Amino acid sequence: MITFESFEYDVLVIGAGGAGLRAAIEASAAGVKVGLICKSLLGKAHTVMAEGGVAAALANVDDRDSWKVHFADTMRGGQYVNNWRMAELHAKEAPDRVRELEAWGAVFDRTKDGRILQRNFGGHRYPRLAHVGDRTGLELIRTLQDQGVHRGLDVHMEFTIVSLLSADGRVNGVVGYERERGRFKVFNATAVVLATGGAGRAYKITSNSWEGTGDGHALAYRAGAELMDMEFIQFHPTGMIWPPSVQGILVTEGVRGEGGILLNREGRRFMFDDIPEPYRNQTADNEEEGWRYTQGDKNARRPPELLTRDHVARCIMREVKAGRGSPHGGVFLDIAWIKKKLSGAEAHIKRKLPSMYHQFKELGDIDITKEPMEVGPTTHYIMGGIRVDSDTQMSSIAGLFAAGECAAGINGANRLGGNSLSDLLVFGKRAGEHAAVFARGNRRGTIDGAAVQRAAEEALAPFDRQGRTENPYTIQTELQDMMQSLVGIVRTEAEMQQALGELAKLAERAGRAGVTGHREYNPGWHTAIDLRNLLTVSEAIARSAIERKESRGGHFREDFPDKIAEYATFNIVTRRKPDGSMEVRRVPLPPLPPELKQIIEEQKA
Ligand SMILES: Cc1cc2nc3c(=O)[nH]c(=O)nc-3n(C[C@H](O)[C@H](O)[C@H](O)COP(=O)(O)OP(=O)(O)OC[C@H]3O[C@@H](n4cnc5c(N)ncnc54)[C@H](O)[C@@H]3O)c2cc1C
Repeated sequence: MITFESFEYDVLVIGAGGAGLRAAIEASAAGVKVGLICKSLLGKAHTVMAEGGVAAALANVDDRDSWKVHFADTMRGGQYVNNWRMAELHAKEAPDRVRELEAWGAVFDRTKDGRILQRNFGGHRYPRLAHVGDRTGLELIRTLQDQGVHRGLDVHMEFTIVSLLSADGRVNGVVGYERERGRFKVFNATAVVLATGGAGRAYKITSNSWEGTGDGHALAYRAGAELMDMEFIQFHPTGMIWPPSVQGILVTEGVRGEGGILLNREGRRFMFDDIPEPYRNQTADNEEEGWRYTQGDKNARRPPELLTRDHVARCIMREVKAGRGSPHGGVFLDIAWIKKKLSGAEAHIKRKLPSMYHQFKELGDIDITKEPMEVGPTTHYIMGGIRVDSDTQMSSIAGLFAAGECAAGINGANRLGGNSLSDLLVFGKRAGEHAAVFARGNRRGTIDGAAVQRAAEEALAPFDRQGRTENPYTIQTELQDMMQSLVGIVRTEAEMQQALGELAKLAERAGRAGVTGHREYNPGWHTAIDLRNLLTVSEAIARSAIERKESRGGHFREDFPDKIAEYATFNIVTRRKPDGSMEVRRVPLPPLPPELKQIIEEQKA
């Protein structure tokens, strides 16, 4: 019999990134008892790594900006399979969420007249990203954490949730263990908010931290909730590629926003070669105009380096495949060239991009104020996630909410840079608010002791396995290699079918994953637990990608290279069937209201 310490909360938030912290603050402000759980130390969630900024139509730098333009940009970036209501709420509410952050003490970079400064980013028509150099996530987390701690949240850090408990279609708690000591705890909660972030660790080359193992996606799926848009993975065009030890680490789009250009090995700006039709009117057709745009000329159009991430990543792959790549299989990103245009360029680069300067200096011995960087695509963000109600963020399980990267809807087929941090604030707040309403309106459910025991026994199973066991690290590495090569940037039916076969074999081996030692400080054990989640998420990605027989946003099929109109009419949703297998179905998108359709049409000009 495994022993447990027990806790009770009205609202329990799993995850202390931007979404979780914002949800916890809001629930706590509503006067209910709130608990907050995170795998790492408070303040270390993946959000802390966010660099470029938070998108909000404050119109501080260009007064032509408005929620309508932001909404239209988000829908176009997502190639119109976004949940339009979420895109609308996000565009309307992001400015207030950013001002609120400022009121809570966030120190943003400033315009000359003292307002929050905004920078250019891919796919955003006007300068829209409020930022703090290239360390925006750190400031966001610091500010939210400060607010949260002063509200008296109960925090359980370095703690991993392994199971959601539910009965009769309603959530009633969670089970997890202390990562340091291995002791189990059970939490009885009226409402649970999942804010567990992304799943980039399913791939070999990724910008994501070790926490991005899709836990929330998998926990919700196993409890019976639906996942949506899992085929849409964002491969960010600019990750570090050399030396091998730093492969995948992000190079912020802020570099291109500040005037950085992409060059092939011939020194040519290849991004001018292919400008997609929907963006042609808004994209510069010469280098001079592109430069003027980055310097705030309102009559200039954006340079093609600031097209959406899916497109830029594919252009880079095209150059590499054609033999025009850089020595280590990427292309060159050059910000040093701006010294031809700006006096004091070196100091300017260091001031606007301090982390990038240090990152390349320390990790690659490259001085970005003097020489170009070598970059290539890296797995960055998952647009897919838990299917939620647009206004309340509640999933198909009553009392179970989701917000941030683990939830789906706002981004459609491709996320615009900066729209994640604003998503965390807007929908984190909404999730916290509605979870508190749910908690006030419902009694706490009763926890089934047998289910709690089962959850802990499953988590401990790797210790009990005897005989020829498998090493969880080996399986994880093989999974990441396999996803990278068979369900990566360029996909085909045959390769993805092969991936399903490989996933079945890996799942079977994961069932034999064994660990030695005991529960205290045992990273092998943590890996064996993560593996279950990574396998579930990977299967959902592969099955959804097979179902979408077209190319759209982050999902590119070599065997179906074009967009097909019919595929813009539904989302792909996966759910666990009673027999444990994965169901994949097409769910029609709700019709776009005429007034929003009109906004989109107006902004196409
Ligand atoms: C390098 C980098 C730079 C980026 N820059 C930007 C940017 O400039 N602008 C922008 O908009 N977006 C950016 N993004 C994307 C953005 O940072 C993320 O999408 C966002 O921070 C995710 O926030 P979140 O709150 O959903 O989750 P996270 O910040 O990932 O937090 C997840 C939380 O859940 C916890 N957790 C996970 N699983 C469990 C479990 N089983 N039990 C308990 N706790 C668990 C974790 O410990 C953590 O506290 C960037 C991403 C990267 C990788």
